[in-house]
Amino acid sequence: MPETPLLLDRADLDRMIGILSERGYQVVGPTVREQEHIISYGDVGSTDDFPVGLTDEQEAATYRLVDRGDGRLFGYAVGATSPMSYLQPSDAVVWAGRRTGKGFETVEPPDPPRYAFVGVRPCELAAIAIEDEVFLGTGSQCPTYATLRQKAFLVSVDCTEPGGTCFCASMGTGPGATSGYDIALIEVLDDEGHAFIARAGTEEGAAVLAELGAAPAGEERAAAASQAVEEAAGKMGRSLDTEGLRDTLAASLSDPIWDELAATCLTCANCTMVCPTCFCAAVENRTNLDATEAERVRRWDSCFNFEFSYIHGGSLRPSASARYRQWMTHKLSSWVDQFGMYGCVGCGRCITWCPVGIDITANAAAVRARMEEAAHV
Ligand code: SF4
Ligand code: SF4
Repeated sequence: MPETPLLLDRADLDRMIGILSERGYQVVGPTVREQEHIISYGDVGSTDDFPVGLTDEQEAATYRLVDRGDGRLFGYAVGATSPMSYLQPSDAVVWAGRRTGKGFETVEPPDPPRYAFVGVRPCELAAIAIEDEVFLGTGSQCPTYATLRQKAFLVSVDCTEPGGTCFCASMGTGPGATSGYDIALIEVLDDEGHAFIARAGTEEGAAVLAELGAAPAGEERAAAASQAVEEAAGKMGRSLDTEGLRDTLAASLSDPIWDELAATCLTCANCTMVCPTCFCAAVENRTNLDATEAERVRRWDSCFNFEFSYIHGGSLRPSASARYRQWMTHKLSSWVDQFGMYGCVGCGRCITWCPVGIDITANAAAVRARMEEAAHV
């Protein structure tokens, strides 16, 4: 796919949203959830729905939206939610039935929506690639995910101003998108004004850009935009050293350090609810009160919940320490054994939204230090 950079302005982006709607997509993107004053994915009808002129200050257990004083549409790091909330819904009906005179009949589900995500961060694209491996890879196939994923259209926006808890550069998942998008954008606000450098990643993406009639971006402006993305790699608030991390964590399972690292953990499961790669789920059977309708629902669960590892006789992980160790070593060690990749893209959400500020990057470094110390005793 040739990647000739094209130039769009905000009006073109509005037209793109219109084109995607006309093509039958439900357009979803970053919006401001007024009640909580956070950025979160929601329905988008025009660029006015984006978090215009806002940025996010993120640190461990800290999130605040502040005015930027400019008109950027994507001048923040990442919102609280990710496309995963749509592609792997928190409450997915996997079967439904109703009583008939002779027994039960299956109720066919409504056609699933076709989502066009506009404003997807490169780390979120990487998270979708991970979920593709989990839900569509050789190990298992999830029909709910497959249907939603195969119909999705992805417009990414590279990062030029990462947040305080971001570390995608060290995970190799950002700040620029390299694959997995239909259209990739870089937002620029320079002497020549507010614009977007666009490149197509698929035939459908190229067709949407062609319908917009976008002109080529000037070479100098496109190069400056790419330079800004490259420089963003050096502005991440955090980093994570992945060298040998799988083995280091695998060797640490019996070390008492996990009691120290999880000493303040509330087992609230926030980190797993905001993570774009967490996929644990439970299955519930529900009926209505007169038992004429029934459904089987897959709903999000978390390895931090006591019941999650319950088998006959009790929970396999009764302590907070055991559950925290399970979560972190899965992300950064046993996930590699299962799927050949880390289960973390460095979006930083688990650090920001942990109410007690537990930091996966600091804790990975602490385990590494402890294991190195133990090796020299
Ligand atoms: S583990 Fe944390 S930093 Fe990594 S992808 Fe999940 S939420 Fe983001
Ligand atoms: S690490 Fe933080 S967010 Fe995750 S369960 Fe523990 S207290 Fe909650």
